[in-house]
Amino acid sequence: MDLSAAARRPGRPPKRIDEGLETREALIRCGTRVLTEKGFAATGIDEVLKAVGVPKGSFYHYFANKEAFGQAVIDHYAAYFARKLDRIFLDASRSPLVRVRAFVNEACAGMARFDFRRGCLIGNLGQEMAVLPEAYRDRLEAVFLDWQARLAKCLRAARAAGEIAATADCDALAAFFWTGWEGAVLRAKLVRGEAPLRQFGEGFLAGLPRGFLSDPRRVAWNDSKERSMFKAVLIEKDDAGYRAGVTELDEGALPEGDVTVRVAYSTLNYKDGLAITGKGPVVRKFPMVPGIDLAGTVEASTHPDVAVGDAVVLNGWGVGEGHWGGLAQMARLKGDWLVPLPTAFTARQAMAIGTAGYTAMLCVMALERHGVTPAQGEVLVTGANGGVGSVAVALLAKLGYTVVASTGRPQEADYLEALGAAEIVDRTQFTEPGRPLAKERWAGVVDTVGSHTLANVCASTKYRGTVAACGLAQGMDFPSSVAPFILRGVTLAGIDSVMAPREERLQAWQRLARDLDVSKLEMITHEIGLAEVIDAAGRLMEGKVRGRLVVDVNR
Ligand code: NDP
Repeated sequence: MDLSAAARRPGRPPKRIDEGLETREALIRCGTRVLTEKGFAATGIDEVLKAVGVPKGSFYHYFANKEAFGQAVIDHYAAYFARKLDRIFLDASRSPLVRVRAFVNEACAGMARFDFRRGCLIGNLGQEMAVLPEAYRDRLEAVFLDWQARLAKCLRAARAAGEIAATADCDALAAFFWTGWEGAVLRAKLVRGEAPLRQFGEGFLAGLPRGFLSDPRRVAWNDSKERSMFKAVLIEKDDAGYRAGVTELDEGALPEGDVTVRVAYSTLNYKDGLAITGKGPVVRKFPMVPGIDLAGTVEASTHPDVAVGDAVVLNGWGVGEGHWGGLAQMARLKGDWLVPLPTAFTARQAMAIGTAGYTAMLCVMALERHGVTPAQGEVLVTGANGGVGSVAVALLAKLGYTVVASTGRPQEADYLEALGAAEIVDRTQFTEPGRPLAKERWAGVVDTVGSHTLANVCASTKYRGTVAACGLAQGMDFPSSVAPFILRGVTLAGIDSVMAPREERLQAWQRLARDLDVSKLEMITHEIGLAEVIDAAGRLMEGKVRGRLVVDVNR
């Protein structure tokens, strides 16, 4: 269906501006995908509308016709690609020629991800020029010239570093590269393999005029950062379904970020279990490397406060949900997300604590903030055998509280007592619907379970006591009444670890270093390798895991 001549019709106006922006963005993104795969002439607007799920009226609200839509898609792709080239060609942690090689590696990984069906949108459109609106000609050439300028800048850096000859004409070399590269992309699509890309990339580098370094190709090919592959758990979702497995990835495929970390250990939290099994809508982008926690050593950094060699810890910030996470041997992240590994802990111990332990600390800090002291009486921990629960029991006991542990696994009583629980209670007394108010018992509660359990523990909390609520292992609902809050002045303190401010994180990690008995950590911890993560995630979801699962990503 050719809509290029269709007149603009008054589409249904968006209800809100941001909603409209979302629809426009969704149309452009889908257009980019479809045009990159099938080209302009073979793509009907109906196909895009169907994929995005918007009516035709909406389309014409945003775009006068197919030609205008195509222009917007070109602009979107050009901006995306320019950012990508800057990330690679301006990467100061690599020598300039190694950056060129990194571009080739990333392109191979990128095309392989889509089974070599998608190529370069600009190249594809260029080949269709005979049937395209004439206005596209200048725009497409302008995009190539922009890419050429970015590569020429990188080649000038190579020339300044002595990797290529002082007489090299960097503009001409960059023009040569893009002309040949587009042919390589076309052949890669044709043969459905990376060989043409590698052949051209190698040919280009080998043909560069030599600089004063003895062999520039050696620099390009043998830099230890080059072709660095790493193992990772990868979650994918496409027509073939939702699946997770361990795979090898190219370093070039890592997401954007100003710090690269060589990961030593990660963990398996409840949220990771949801992400890997697909039992909860945790992952927001595919493909995704899960892992909301990691501990490791900084390998490259352009962040002012993070130096190469620093030992760091990361918890949350949407990592493993919207940004590639810690269940991998390498991660690229924002330096602002990292906290220094406390000297009291090894990387393995920090991951034995992980988000679960750091959340337990946030809960304890909330109880303290609201005035709960050991003298006021018993403190209850629900989901006590879980990761958050186990650390909460250990922390509270060390701080002198009388801890009552609620669990569905009374057979683990010895373990909970060894952590410091004074009494073990059966969780079934909390899991069923209860009365709005019950006998007052708890000075404070750490609840990891939610639903009826949270309602019942609020109902049995003492006058002016506090319940720190952080979890939903029983359910997301909260079937309660306001009675405990308005008749007993009970405080319900919500705990979120994911976006907690940096100051509070630093404080929580300092407190963990002081208040957690590291000898208890070993009791809580079970170590697995990366290959065991998928099975372990299933067991975690079935409530069969006790304490904390630490993942050695290098075994
Ligand atoms: P785990 O899976 O390790 O532990 C959860 C525990 O909850 C289980 O061990 C079990 O304990 C109990 N439980 C499981 N199912 C039920 C059920 N149907 N009814 C009652 N109790 C149940 O998870 P984590 O400790 O890592 O996390 C606990 C909760 O906290 C999760 O919901 C998680 O999403 C949430 N969380 C929230 C964070 C935040 O920032 N707010 C951060 C980290 C976690 P037992 O066998 O002893 O009964």
